[in-house]
Amino acid sequence: MNQPLLFWFRKDLRLTDNTALKAAAQTGRPIICTYILDEDNDLAWPLGKASRWWLQESLKSLGLSLQQYELQLVLRRGDSVEQLSQLIKETGASSLYFSAQYEPSSLTLEQKVNLALKDQIEVKRFKGYLLYEPNENTTAEGKPYKVFTPFYKACLKKPPSTALPAPEQISAYPEYLASDDLLDWDLALDTPTWAQEYPPIWKPGEDGADWSLQAFIRQGVGKYPELRNRPDIFGTSRLSPHLHFGEISPRQIWNAINQLNNTDNEGVASYQRELIWREFSYNLLINWPDFPEQPFRSEFKAFPWHDDDSALHRWQQGQTGYPIVDAGMRELLHTGWMHNRVRMIVASFLIKDLLIPWQQGEKWFWQHLLDANLASNSASWQWVAGCGADAAPYFRVFNPTLQGEKFDPNGDYVRQWVPELDQLSKAHIHTPWEAPAEELKLAGINLNETYPSPIVNHKEARLRALAAFEVIKHKSQPAA
Ligand SMILES: Cc1cc2nc3c(=O)[nH]c(=O)nc-3n(C[C@H](O)[C@H](O)[C@H](O)COP(=O)(O)OP(=O)(O)OC[C@H]3O[C@@H](n4cnc5c(N)ncnc54)[C@H](O)[C@@H]3O)c2cc1C
Repeated sequence: MNQPLLFWFRKDLRLTDNTALKAAAQTGRPIICTYILDEDNDLAWPLGKASRWWLQESLKSLGLSLQQYELQLVLRRGDSVEQLSQLIKETGASSLYFSAQYEPSSLTLEQKVNLALKDQIEVKRFKGYLLYEPNENTTAEGKPYKVFTPFYKACLKKPPSTALPAPEQISAYPEYLASDDLLDWDLALDTPTWAQEYPPIWKPGEDGADWSLQAFIRQGVGKYPELRNRPDIFGTSRLSPHLHFGEISPRQIWNAINQLNNTDNEGVASYQRELIWREFSYNLLINWPDFPEQPFRSEFKAFPWHDDDSALHRWQQGQTGYPIVDAGMRELLHTGWMHNRVRMIVASFLIKDLLIPWQQGEKWFWQHLLDANLASNSASWQWVAGCGADAAPYFRVFNPTLQGEKFDPNGDYVRQWVPELDQLSKAHIHTPWEAPAEELKLAGINLNETYPSPIVNHKEARLRALAAFEVIKHKSQPAA
């Protein structure tokens, strides 16, 4: 049988360690590669602005990689089932191969595709986006884990297998097929002007992912436990957007890091633990599909939030008057990324100091993060809010000043992103409102003119948050 095989790229925009592509290549049949932009598939969570830019660049890169095999990347736009059916009609393909995705809308789409096509052609779904299939790791009772540590331990008992090399050969479908022009999709049209700052920082695509991994390894994974909380230092891998778009698989990263086990044991374990947090987030999303919208702990539905558009706007624009919060929000606007420690600080500030619902922050991140990921974003916001599975307790309120002093001790991170505070001394870089008038004058700072005074008094805001929590506290149940 030498009938063509249709290969459907989704969030697996790579050739290396792509189980589905390898299997397709091994059939020896002519392959048609396609990517379908199906904007109506997830109306609740359409691609965010930053993600659209990344997708455009990543597809450019994938197209070039496929050219090395003389393969065309056929771009189509519209309903996935209709577009796949059309391609099958045009080419006579008798199989459809693709990598599994796990967002609720992706799972529904896969079922729809399977239902529509399975009687005409062979439909095969492969794993590769996650280290473990959903529900591969369950409690002794066969239930999904709600607590991270036992989930993590269960994962460690099943180390991932070796990553696959890119196929040596792929037979190309011989005819040229009609394809959209990527630039006509206007994926980057909506990106605000700050997107112009992305290109020097980021290199979307498989080569860029590998470059980031190698740079992280060269820097020394052994330092990761110590440096991973320091936003002023390049201490983490910055692989998150690459992982999100499947330009590198978690298995490739896991194995590359694992090879360092003899020298950097602690760093390897600490880094791999973060990869398992990604798996845990998917475990939550798959088993509780309304996780992105609804608090996991239902008592939080009665939480007395304080909707405040003006405060929300100041938080979004990095104008709260708390330097570490403002630095993080501006790093996000300029680079499409924010350091994990600072994500926690800004999230805590929005939820607890401003009492604004976590869903508002989640939505802002969704639009502005290049790594915006439904599972990790919702799980992390709920974790900080205290309403998620195995979440930080609500009463643990981050003090933005102490967090800044501890994790950005010299104020370098603040100086980079809040340049109007650049000339402040180390003693006041995290507390400009406490700086003597003389120092402010010398630093060219006029509070409320060149930089805002704190939007709230943190001590008072903390008490207000704890009082709000009292309203629902008696209903709280620990996660089983
Ligand atoms: C409020 C909030 C929102 C977040 N939203 C997202 C999001 O939309 N997308 C996203 O990928 N991560 C999100 N995170 C998790 C984390 O901040 C990022 O994964 C991390 O900062 C990415 O940088 P890195 O690749 O250098 O991480 P590294 O420290 O190098 O970690 C390696 C990889 O492990 C995974 N990882 C690390 N920490 C976490 C975590 N806490 N939860 C899940 N996976 C993790 C990521 O895939 C990351 O690339 C969020 C965290 C918070 C507090």
